[in-house]
Amino acid sequence: MVDLFTKFDPLINEREALLATGVRDPYGIVMDKVLSPTEAMVNGKRTILLGTYNYMGMTFDPDVIAAGKAALDKFGSGTTGSRVLNGTYAGHKDCEDALKEYYGVDHAIVFSTGYQANLGMISGLAGKGDYIILDADSHASIYDGCAMGKAEVVRFRHNSVEDLDKRLGRLPAEAGKLVVLEGVYSMLGDVAPLPEMVKVAKKHGAMILCDEAHGMGFFGPNGRGVYEEMGCEKDIDFVVGTFSKSVGTVGGFCVSNHPKFEVMRLVARPYIFTASLPPSVVATAATSIRKLMHAGEKRAHLWKNSKRLHQGLRDMGYKLGTDTAQSAIIAVILTDMAQAVSLWQGLLEAGLYVNTARPPATPAGMFLLRCSLCAEHTDEQVGEILGMFERAGRATGVIP
Ligand code: PMP
Repeated sequence: MVDLFTKFDPLINEREALLATGVRDPYGIVMDKVLSPTEAMVNGKRTILLGTYNYMGMTFDPDVIAAGKAALDKFGSGTTGSRVLNGTYAGHKDCEDALKEYYGVDHAIVFSTGYQANLGMISGLAGKGDYIILDADSHASIYDGCAMGKAEVVRFRHNSVEDLDKRLGRLPAEAGKLVVLEGVYSMLGDVAPLPEMVKVAKKHGAMILCDEAHGMGFFGPNGRGVYEEMGCEKDIDFVVGTFSKSVGTVGGFCVSNHPKFEVMRLVARPYIFTASLPPSVVATAATSIRKLMHAGEKRAHLWKNSKRLHQGLRDMGYKLGTDTAQSAIIAVILTDMAQAVSLWQGLLEAGLYVNTARPPATPAGMFLLRCSLCAEHTDEQVGEILGMFERAGRATGVIP
């Protein structure tokens, strides 16, 4: 027998060597109790959460919780079936209606996760003989959607309009083409130059799918995403999103005005061959989405928090993923895994949770501590966060 685990030995050894230095496992944290969108009990300590995607703080919204409880009582704990069989309840249709209202579009399809929405849309849309042209720093779900389908895959340099143009120019003019972009890139928190990219994609006759997982709720007058903020609504053919970030629950979706869009329900395998979301989840999602339509004040507060944290960390001497705050994700760049984990642990011991990220999830082999802010973080909490970064950064020698 060949032990199929042998190939993981380098990873197992690297991890054991790191843990042998006495640091905690950054991928083994347990939230024992969650107190609010911004605080949890971790190891018996009250901890500020700065590593969730709870951008709009909807997880404890009383209306959202009430809707979930009512649906649980009325429709039970789960659908036990696919969307195309017994798994479409009134709540799934209502959730799709909420998305159509939110995005001002004709069609919306709810998937069981955002990961599956990308798998289903990308593998379903681009078939044999077609081309998918994607940013090199695309999310894993976009890469996996490409791997699942039969189209040719072409990558362009991250956020490079010029490279996108060059690569599209080399493809056969008559071939079907899908350009896949993200509004916000989640590792460094930078945004895409969407108007320029849209122009180039249209010039070459490509359709465009934009993943707004990290843009929904926060960007644009209606919180639709970066594409709304940048005035690209007419040009993006498909917007993919998730309920696991600003919406505050779990699930994924795609919205579109394409007249034939509904056929995706019959061709997207990750829509067909999996169970649909529980009734309580779609009820919380629909309620949250409708509330996010009127969340201008929260958006403004989240921007204020993001700018203040970015400026504060920069002034302390931290190296960050972007020159200014471009989104609610602020990435602190570190030299290696040991430095990243020692700062991460220092912050955790002080009462702050942030995310660690390492290759292959990160671009260019970077080791990051990723901070993501919430509209519910108070001014006092942002002040506390900055204080903790200053003390832990000095203690670990990351900042002077
Ligand atoms: N797209 C992007 C850009 C993401 O960052 C994520 C999740 N981190 C997803 C899709 C998948 O979303 P979900 O959590 O709903 O599977």
